[in-house]
Amino acid sequence: MKKILALILALAMMMTAGLALADNSYTGTGKGFAGDIKVTVTLADDGSIVDVTVDECNDTPGVCDTAVEKVPADMKELNSINVDTVSGATFTSQGILAAAKDALESNGVDITALMEKKEVVVEKGADQTLEADVVVIGAGGAGLAAAITAEQNGAKVIVVEKMPKVGGNTILAGGAVNAVEDRSEFAIKQNDSVYWHYTQTLSGGDYQGDPELVMTLVSNAYDGIQWTKELGMEWLGEDAVFTVSGGLWPRAWKPAGKASAGFFETYGKYIDNTDKIDLMLNTKAEEILVNEKGEVCGIVCTGETGNTVTINAKSVVVATGGFSKNVELRMAYDAIWGMLDEKVLSTNHPGATGDGVKMLQKLQADFIQMGNIQLLPLGDPVTGSLSGNIEHGVDSRIFVNKSGLRYGDEGGRRDDMTRDLFAQEDAYMWIVMDSDTYPTGDELNNFGESANQLVEAGRAVKADTLDELAVLMNVDAANLKATIAEYNEYCIGGAKEGQADQFGRTLFGAPIDNGPFYAGARVPTVHHTMGGVRIDTLCRVYNESGEIIENLYAAGEVTGGIHGTNRLGGNALTDTIVFGRIAGESAALQK
Ligand code: ADP
Repeated sequence: MKKILALILALAMMMTAGLALADNSYTGTGKGFAGDIKVTVTLADDGSIVDVTVDECNDTPGVCDTAVEKVPADMKELNSINVDTVSGATFTSQGILAAAKDALESNGVDITALMEKKEVVVEKGADQTLEADVVVIGAGGAGLAAAITAEQNGAKVIVVEKMPKVGGNTILAGGAVNAVEDRSEFAIKQNDSVYWHYTQTLSGGDYQGDPELVMTLVSNAYDGIQWTKELGMEWLGEDAVFTVSGGLWPRAWKPAGKASAGFFETYGKYIDNTDKIDLMLNTKAEEILVNEKGEVCGIVCTGETGNTVTINAKSVVVATGGFSKNVELRMAYDAIWGMLDEKVLSTNHPGATGDGVKMLQKLQADFIQMGNIQLLPLGDPVTGSLSGNIEHGVDSRIFVNKSGLRYGDEGGRRDDMTRDLFAQEDAYMWIVMDSDTYPTGDELNNFGESANQLVEAGRAVKADTLDELAVLMNVDAANLKATIAEYNEYCIGGAKEGQADQFGRTLFGAPIDNGPFYAGARVPTVHHTMGGVRIDTLCRVYNESGEIIENLYAAGEVTGGIHGTNRLGGNALTDTIVFGRIAGESAALQK
């Protein structure tokens, strides 16, 4: 009996802690962003590291890749399991480091020497001066759409990106792109039109958006999707078009497979196959150069090794994104919320620090509506991220507070939904839905994560009955059941179908009555800085005197005046494609 117990104990230890394999190879587990990361470390007889491999990682593709490549490579090179994390992929890096430590420690390997902190020492390279027709600052959605379009218009392009990877905030998005084609049967069936998209974008932003820019956005949206298709990007069909949170209408197209990472696979392939676009990662633009005539003529950057890289160009596209991660800037400008200090989390990547704002200020560029900062009620309670969100579309889910009660219109504007959430206990809510969207639980959310994975990682809960779900959520079961029963009356087939409920909600799908049920907690999170530099419909940049700054273009979140006080869900990616393309074309055609 004792022997069996010992065997079970040993087996259990091998399963939970690290596992010793042949040839001095050890596996261990660490916590990544979306569940466990498994790593194998192989040591030489003298105890030095021969190899480190990541065997399993469920973190968001496109976001974690740099960490999966770099952290093990650094461990091997520096013979240490205490190396730097990768900026923009901190959670994944930490998970890999913890897994390596677990692999060795739990197998009794003395890790004292290997735990010594080591850093890659980069020798400063020579300063460089490069030439291009167009230089693009920022390799997010708008920047890469601009770079490719400039190239398609005959330009030689250099893109500089300060982070070790492309994608910016765009790659963190769920991938929803609002776009309408007036002649499609689908739009007619949905009572949608380019003009209705225009009206909702304007009114949803309290008419602060510039009508010309809004019309440019909506009337080029569908063409933008076709352009990405020509580049090879795959999209789900019309039957997958949905209402994204705060999108107000079913007009959001979904990329097939990999959410927003699909854009960067597509753009990346294009860039790999042309010798006319050079992409320089780890290269931070510091200043936009102006010649004696006051015309923009290039940029100065800090290069990968800390060297100075000067790029002379006929035109410059600023596509540096927003400033949601810059607490000082967002507190200085915020005109809506009044308390955007560091306690309020953000969905953004660490590079969203408003560098473009600072560089453009030096050129006396004109900024508009900088106070318009968008929050979402959809942040992960620990990180503020959008990922981990169980919802698919608006019509299949509800929000309930810590008392287990619905409290507002979950189909409304993003600012209204966030205000409603701030008014709840601890500004904390649960998204609740049923198995209609997750028949087995292995189906993916909008961020490429399965419901079962989220449950396993402790980021969502699942139960066969609402009573059991209430226990897991720590909310009052009677309240939860009553609030859902009442909601179901308004759903398709319900007693009050077709009516608005007491919160003004009008978008209802099937009732929430098909167990198992799912719930995921969410908090307010800073998402999008809607103000920015003032542009015209050709993406030319205005100065404070209302004149165009020659040879300068801007696109994406760094610009202002499109979304007004409140951006519709699904309009940000449309913005990157539409205005990215326009900026690229304008910049390439610059004489
Ligand atoms: P958008 O949606 O407008 O394209 P993103 O956030 O997706 O915005 O992309 C902006 C990109 O610009 C990010 O990848 C960010 O790291 C990059 N960036 C920001 N500031 C600089 C800078 N000073 N130099 C180079 N790249 C920058």
